Amino acid sequence: MNQDVVVLGAGLMGRLLALSLARQGARVQLHDAHGPDALHSAARAAAAMLAPLAESAITELPVVRMGQHALARWPELLATLPAPVYFQQAGTLILWHRQDQAEAQRFEALVRRTHAQLPELPAPETLHRERLAALEPAVAGRFTQGLYLPGEGQLDNRQLLDALHLALQEAGVQLHWHAPVLARDAAELRSAFPQAGQIVDCRGLGAQPAWPALRGVRGEVVRLHAPGVQLQRPTRLMHPRYPIYIAPKQDGVFMIGATEIETEDLSPASVRSTLELLSAAYSVDSGFAEARILEITAQARPTLPDNLPRLRTLGPGVLQVNGLYRHGYLIAPAVHDAALQWLTQGESPLARQWGLL
Ligand SMILES: Cc1cc2nc3c(=O)[nH]c(=O)nc-3n(C[C@H](O)[C@H](O)[C@H](O)COP(=O)(O)OP(=O)(O)OC[C@H]3O[C@@H](n4cnc5c(N)ncnc54)[C@H](O)[C@@H]3O)c2cc1C
Repeated sequence: MNQDVVVLGAGLMGRLLALSLARQGARVQLHDAHGPDALHSAARAAAAMLAPLAESAITELPVVRMGQHALARWPELLATLPAPVYFQQAGTLILWHRQDQAEAQRFEALVRRTHAQLPELPAPETLHRERLAALEPAVAGRFTQGLYLPGEGQLDNRQLLDALHLALQEAGVQLHWHAPVLARDAAELRSAFPQAGQIVDCRGLGAQPAWPALRGVRGEVVRLHAPGVQLQRPTRLMHPRYPIYIAPKQDGVFMIGATEIETEDLSPASVRSTLELLSAAYSVDSGFAEARILEITAQARPTLPDNLPRLRTLGPGVLQVNGLYRHGYLIAPAVHDAALQWLTQGESPLARQWGLL
């Protein structure tokens, strides 16, 4: 690809696409409003669970299909990076307290319906006492039943962002940090970058001036150091008001998250939601009592009105990639493959197959 390409936004999508374009021979510039640590991106805040079946309870089949494609693609992509990125595929565990049985049944019915529609996905497994204790001994004393979604995964998003940064430098991408691009339409973008053959807008929520339908959906995450907790896989606790997830990373680090609030308010997390998150986590494993709080983060997910991702041509040679909502990591390799097809071939069967256009 012998072309000048400008990529806007060095969050999850921008880094992935800039790297692949450079590796295909394009001369790539990457511009971000902030620094290489991606402090203000959804990409840095995320828990980075890769759970197509679990997410099918709240999303549509194309996202589940993209998630399935991406689960196979992540190890291939990670293998090309110059630094290791923790990636695990030990399934998702679903738990509930006895009084929340109805919520669990509703969830199980939804994932079983998805599985009936996409039988190529690994089948959900109902866990009774002994099987649960064998699979996840850490919760054996407190829970006597659960649901297991085999094959689902997670990765360490901060290691990924760092490894991508290193790879971008090695690939010779021109990196422009603290360089916000405020253009609102194709004409403004073209006049800002007259030399560019292609402009790829991956500004996430920062693309709102050029895509007013975008909105932010706030999430809050607590990052804990809990070396005494032995949970091995992402675990979701069903609850009618505050369902939570616990995602174990390396070295005793756990991400605990839940809230989904329709607001772009990025003020710090409230006491109430922090209390709810931490008490729900403590109810799963009392070892969290001794955990150290490393960080409490609030961030907004870039979301379109139908909560689905999209590739959109803003004008000739200007592609927008956005709306990754709460599934960015789950689907990023799929969206990346479709966008790359579009950028290199001017057409993308993958994008059509997944309804991205
Ligand atoms: C709390 C939370 C938990 C999540 N958990 C998960 C999960 O478990 N699994 C999952 O699959 N997904 C998860 N996500 C979703 C995932 O993080 C997002 O879908 C994904 O990061 C979106 O990628 P993006 O590249 O579109 O946007 P971002 O990652 O937000 O990147 C956008 C980039 O654009 C830059 N930018 C903004 N404005 C400008 C400008 N004017 N000029 C130049 N640059 C600009 C920003 O600085 C940023 O670096 C979570 C998100 C949040 C907030």
